[in-house]
Amino acid sequence: MKVAVIGTGYVGLVTGTCLAETGNEVVCVDIDEQKVESMKNGMVPIYEPHLDVLFHRNIKAGRLTFTTSLEDGLEHGEIVFLALPTPEGEDGSADLKYVLGVADEIGRLLRDYKVIVDKSTVPVGTAEKVRNVISENTNVEFDVVSNPEFLREGFAVDDFLKPERIVVGSTSERAIKLMKKLYRPYVRSGNPILIMDEKSAELTKYAANSFLATKITFMNEIANFCERVGADVDMVRRGMGTDSRIGKRFLFPGIGYGGSCFPKDVKALHKSGGESNYDFAILEAVIKVNQSQKTILLPKMKNHFNGRLKGKKIAVWGLAFKPETDDIREAPALYMIEELLDEGAIVQAYDPEAMDNVQKVFGDRIYFGKSMYEAAEDADALLICTEWSIFRTPDFTKLEGKLKGPIIFDGRNLYDTEDLQNLGFTYYSIGRKDIV
Ligand code: NAD
Repeated sequence: MKVAVIGTGYVGLVTGTCLAETGNEVVCVDIDEQKVESMKNGMVPIYEPHLDVLFHRNIKAGRLTFTTSLEDGLEHGEIVFLALPTPEGEDGSADLKYVLGVADEIGRLLRDYKVIVDKSTVPVGTAEKVRNVISENTNVEFDVVSNPEFLREGFAVDDFLKPERIVVGSTSERAIKLMKKLYRPYVRSGNPILIMDEKSAELTKYAANSFLATKITFMNEIANFCERVGADVDMVRRGMGTDSRIGKRFLFPGIGYGGSCFPKDVKALHKSGGESNYDFAILEAVIKVNQSQKTILLPKMKNHFNGRLKGKKIAVWGLAFKPETDDIREAPALYMIEELLDEGAIVQAYDPEAMDNVQKVFGDRIYFGKSMYEAAEDADALLICTEWSIFRTPDFTKLEGKLKGPIIFDGRNLYDTEDLQNLGFTYYSIGRKDIV
């Protein structure tokens, strides 16, 4: 099939590449000329496991091409995906200027029937807005479909190729038929394509993300309470997770959720509630708790260093908002680093993929290590913000040799407290006994 994807960020580029992989001809459109130029030169603009192999294979096969021209993309695709940003607006609602801006252009350029597929995460009622904006400038027939994306950064290619479900919101038989045909190769193992009305599809995405953010936040509160009463959150987590109604996943406490989706999506759903006179009390609490959770280790650090972090060298392992990505949007590490710098501490950071992006934020206000051990060189303490695999089993003897003092503040509970005690470390983590 002939497909156009407008916006080649984490979602758009993965969507375009994975759709090309099953034989579709895909034209990816982006407004960022530099990005398009570098993709034309064979460079993958983001880090996402396995994406490079598929990207190069499909470019070579002529099934994946790039352009800055929306007109060319639109002329090519019978199905046109919008994978545009929907960032947090000033009042917390989703800013629809990219989606509606492109819809306006599409209305002016439409020559024949197209299915316009909204893959961006958007509030209930957006498909209708997109339809209205396009209709203002054209009499050509078209359909708008809501098709929210559930891929996870770090697993995006796998998630797209083998989705647990595909949600398609539409009442147009013609559009539904085309969407089913396009997605058939991805659901051969029997996972469902759920057809529903567009409003329910739009809400499904916000409900899923808000539920997951709530689950993490609930566990973070349990962890914080564990510390007050001397319980061990690892034990509580296992005890809870074995209940099949609860499940084992998303129960790991830490220094809060971040990323390009959960923070803005929870806020957008909360805001949508308000607009419909519905008070989403639970989401308000989630937003508040997560904000303070990001810097929950700071008081422990200050306390350890007798209230003064000025001049202390702190090594920071992990900058991306989660492992296996270079995405640093709303990453808890950034909040911790900002606080540490405010306190006058010196930060030496390391991340396997996200250092270039972090350098753009902090410039020369922080130092970067070439390796995790170099970042720890002569540091007064190590702070762990992201659970990259390589941080899970470090050479503790080597680490101890690098650090000024064997002190770890672990925002992701990577290590066994007893092991660290036996190794002679001072070890602070989340919801467990501090080893001091
Ligand atoms: P992104 O910021 O990584 O990418 C957006 C891309 O759109 C950029 O390359 C930008 O240059 C381009 N763009 C902006 N305006 C444009 C225009 N007028 N024409 C063409 N291109 C334009 O965003 P993302 O992370 O891919 O997210 C896209 C949407 O998908 C958002 O609504 C997001 O909430 C949703 N989503 C994201 C994820 C995720 O894990 N990142 C997962 C599911 C859903």
